Amino acid sequence: MSLRTKFMLALLLTGLAAVAMVGGLAYVGMTKKVDTIRREQAADQFHSVVTAYLQKYGNWQASPGKQGFDAFMQSGEHPPPLSDGAQDEDRRPPREDGRGAQDDGRGPPREDRRGPQDDGRGPPRGEGPDDGQRPPRGEGYRPPRRGGEPPFRFILADQDFKVLLGAGVYRHGEALPEAARKDARAVTVNGSVVAYVSPEGVITPSKQELQYLAAMRDALWYGVSGAAVLALVLGLLLSRSLGRTLGHLTSAVRAMHGGSLLQRVPVEGKDEVAELAAAFNDMSEKLARSHQELQESHQTILQQAEQMRELSVRDALTKLHNRRHFDEQATTLFSHAVRHKRPLAMVIGDIDYFKKINDQFSHATGDAVLRQVGEILRSHMRLSDLVARYGGEEFVIAFPETELPQAAALCDKLRGIIEAFPWHQVHPDLKVTMSMGVYADLAAGTAEAMLQKADALLYRAKETGRNRVCFAA
Ligand code: GH3
Ligand code: MG
Ligand code: MG
Repeated sequence: MSLRTKFMLALLLTGLAAVAMVGGLAYVGMTKKVDTIRREQAADQFHSVVTAYLQKYGNWQASPGKQGFDAFMQSGEHPPPLSDGAQDEDRRPPREDGRGAQDDGRGPPREDRRGPQDDGRGPPRGEGPDDGQRPPRGEGYRPPRRGGEPPFRFILADQDFKVLLGAGVYRHGEALPEAARKDARAVTVNGSVVAYVSPEGVITPSKQELQYLAAMRDALWYGVSGAAVLALVLGLLLSRSLGRTLGHLTSAVRAMHGGSLLQRVPVEGKDEVAELAAAFNDMSEKLARSHQELQESHQTILQQAEQMRELSVRDALTKLHNRRHFDEQATTLFSHAVRHKRPLAMVIGDIDYFKKINDQFSHATGDAVLRQVGEILRSHMRLSDLVARYGGEEFVIAFPETELPQAAALCDKLRGIIEAFPWHQVHPDLKVTMSMGVYADLAAGTAEAMLQKADALLYRAKETGRNRVCFAA
């Protein structure tokens, strides 16, 4: 179930529950109140009519009885109702005044004073419903009512509490129970009590009251419908705004997952969802910044690693490659040459009388000579050539794709350049020469073996006068 549906359902249920609770309680309360007011007014009216009737005849025994009472009612001799239109229930508004002096309206409700079998219309308490002695319905007072059922029936007893009119509750002549007596209102004629009227009665809701209640039911239904529509509209609006922000957040998270760490979602309002969006923006910004810093630091580390690697394969004084790097690369070059049957020449050169240079001019001059010789060698190499300081004042060169004659010629050229260099600029009396051995036969078997052969040729160059190149195929 989507978040929007859940949201709307929750609002709908809450709205309906609120309307049902408030409306239902109001409906029940109103119904009870209407019933109470109606009963009190009807009791007052009955009391006035009975009083007028007995004032006319003195007491019930002297009167024509029930038929006479009904005729009295029909005749219109009784006094007017307590309030305007009190007999016309269809037009009479509910009223709370007009109660008799003895009727304080605080007596317990009828239901509290009756047995469980007594529905107010059945036989007297203690008698079975089918005992054949049930008083006829309609016994008791039924004031005439225009166009239908009487709105109420009340109980009338004589001065000794013997029932005269039982309203379907008590039989004629039966003694009114004690519980009913204390709420009974006395009917006084010439200062003496001639009868008692019980406030208990059977009330039939009037048409107007039924209309009130129907109107209230309608209002309740309108309330329920209005609450439902409001809940749906509110749910739609709220869930739409919530869904929009969540949608932005989801897209932003997906974009972050795809690598774009810096994301911004719109922050609307000041609620918790807006706080979440703002917190997300902060997090994204910090993540992106951290990632940027991490990348920079990673780059620095890579550069430093490259520098370290470069330092590890370079000679500090001449900046040429060192012996370790030469040995590794020479092996590779040798394998390549063997595999492809390509020529490869190996050279080893050694500065002549270098010990004397150190001794005669200083160690620093010796270093300057080493740097300059290294520079001359480096500057005359092709990209594919490999040159290195092999140790002390010894240099090695590998010439790929080079036959012995070209290699020997190139070495002799280098020898001439070194000799011709204006060393007097370093020191007036300085002269520098180099002896070299060149070997170019792959049959030696390894790069190392070729170098040993070249070293042997270098030794021969030293032996035969120095400042020369010795070579062999
Ligand atoms: P030869 O002509 O037979 O090669 O004689 P040589 O003096 O050049 O040979 P030898 O091996 O006797 O001398 C090499 C000298 O190189 C010894 C050493 O003090 C010096 N040397 C080695 N490394 C360095 C360096 O890095 N700087 C300096 N200034 N001298 C160095
Ligand atoms: Mg040497
Ligand atoms: Mg030497």
